[in-house]
Amino acid sequence: MPLGYAVYMSAGHCAEKDRLLLEYRQAADQYAAAVAELSRRIGISSLDDYQKLHQAAESARIRSNEARDRLARQIAEHHCDISKAS
Ligand SMILES: [Zn+2]
Repeated sequence: MPLGYAVYMSAGHCAEKDRLLLEYRQAADQYAAAVAELSRRIGISSLDDYQKLHQAAESARIRSNEARDRLARQIAEHHCDISKAS
């Protein structure tokens, strides 16, 4: 847990949520890139290469789902999705 965490929490800003959101966005981007690569390679790559790419896309999808779950859990447990600005 980073220093200053509690301070951000009490200020209505959640550093952990920001971190998890960034993590989720990066994972989702990687998944999107893997899927794009996969569809580009259909009919070009050997079956072996295609299966490796498919596996990479699948593990990117799982990482993305896990990151989304961690983010959702953080918001649910912490109620930090409610912006005081709105
Ligand atoms: Zn939070």
